[in-house]
Amino acid sequence: MSAPTLEPQADWNQLYIDGEWRDATGGGTISVENPAKQEVFTEVPAGTEADVDAAYEAAEAAQSDWAATPREERDEIVQNLLDELNARFEEIAGLLATEAGTPGYRAMGEFATATGDVEMALELEPPEEEVRPSSSIDDKDNHIVYEPVGVVGVISPWNFPLHLSLRAVAPAIALGNTVVLKPATDTPITGGLLIAKLCEAAGVPDGVVNVVTGRGSEIGDRIANHPTPRVVSFTGSTPVGKGVAEQAGKNLALPALELGGNAPFIVTDDVDVERAARAGAFGSFFHQGQVCISINRHLVHESVYDEYVDLLVDHAESLVIGDPSENEDVTFGPVQNETQRDDLVAFIEDSLEAGATLETGGEADGLFVEPTVLSDCTNDMPTACNEHFGPVAPVIPFSDDDEAIELANDTEYGLSASVFCEDEERARALADRVEAGMVHINDQPINEDHNAPFGGVKQSGLGRYHGEWITRELTEPKWISVQGEERDYFVFE
Ligand code: NAP
Repeated sequence: MSAPTLEPQADWNQLYIDGEWRDATGGGTISVENPAKQEVFTEVPAGTEADVDAAYEAAEAAQSDWAATPREERDEIVQNLLDELNARFEEIAGLLATEAGTPGYRAMGEFATATGDVEMALELEPPEEEVRPSSSIDDKDNHIVYEPVGVVGVISPWNFPLHLSLRAVAPAIALGNTVVLKPATDTPITGGLLIAKLCEAAGVPDGVVNVVTGRGSEIGDRIANHPTPRVVSFTGSTPVGKGVAEQAGKNLALPALELGGNAPFIVTDDVDVERAARAGAFGSFFHQGQVCISINRHLVHESVYDEYVDLLVDHAESLVIGDPSENEDVTFGPVQNETQRDDLVAFIEDSLEAGATLETGGEADGLFVEPTVLSDCTNDMPTACNEHFGPVAPVIPFSDDDEAIELANDTEYGLSASVFCEDEERARALADRVEAGMVHINDQPINEDHNAPFGGVKQSGLGRYHGEWITRELTEPKWISVQGEERDYFVFE
């Protein structure tokens, strides 16, 4: 097989179903824009419900053979996928810059996490078959075996398209499942069609990975409520995720949901303020704040508040703003789309009206929203109580640890959080009291580690990625009992 072409202007105008490149039924297309330039650079197919049905049919047909393929053979193919990825970093970074406004350093980070997703998938092992004696019947053995769940539907967002698609696809196929993937409409290439090309080049058998691009409003329900998938893995916003869960529930498919967040970043009175502010700036401005685990609120002890705000402003103003597809030195790119920008500008304006002070930023030019620091904030201001999902840092003062916890937990979300505190015991006590699936001490909240469970509580989701946690979601325990001596059925002689 010849190497796939991965430039932004390559041919991206077909769906990948059953190992074939097919036009979307109906022939509709969707324009894909470079957010920095706000210019269309290619077109992808607007898949339809009929395309989703065809993709699930292919996935279902391929699943039993794939599950029966010895693990070593499956691993060889997954390893090929990893090799394909590793060989194509430059092109993939170029695509991420063009399609997702990704600066070079972030592309490296996303690439490392995405390759890590595939490496981790190669190591996932369902528990070994186990034999336990019956708890109530003589001479009966209970064998407990783990099987792949079958077909997995995957819906991914635009903010880390490659990683967040592969985070579900790679473990699913390594464990013997087949997949239908629908990427976000803003990033259909790096979240979907690119993965299809790499799977094809890696020799992934026909039907094992199918990619259908298309608008969530048109085909999202069908991805979730189709009778075939047993797990629907969704990463995206909380309102859409709840709808996906409802649709998946119609067929009792398990909804695996990684949803929105509103991460608090607690800075106590005993910290090295410079270290805390550097971490705080990274946690707010990395990828223009478009990370589910970005800092949404800086909760800072009143005794270090002014110093912290000044340092945060210095860091915000030191970012190099520009088009990552043209300039490698850029550290801060555009936000993804106009809705993002308009929501952010409104959140900032409404917070200023509610009494916040603008320390720096606040303006938008095209899709570039300036890194913004707001002081004198309260938890109920729009930039604080909403998941703003952008480069805005509202800083809220507190006077003691109880107040910090009260503020931190005063949100419907519970994804990631941070505690910056020198005293280890006090830091741990605070971390234990924060309602979140992930809490990081003396670091900012943007962390993902394949050796730790990733996921949220409250309205931030259901289930966990990585290791044994994702293995449990993508396999099903099966009880096979074997009766030895004839048992006594009591009523029959
Ligand atoms: P989104 O609007 O919820 O979209 C996510 C995905 O859902 C996209 O592929 C979208 O397709 C699709 N979709 C839209 N309507 C749908 C429907 N009715 N049924 C099924 N699917 C539908 O989220 P986003 O704006 O892409 O991403 C930002 C959100 O994702 C934030 O809330 C962020 O916190 C969250 N997120 C969470 C995590 C995590 O791990 N917890 C990671 C990253 C992002 P279209 O693009 O075609 O609309």
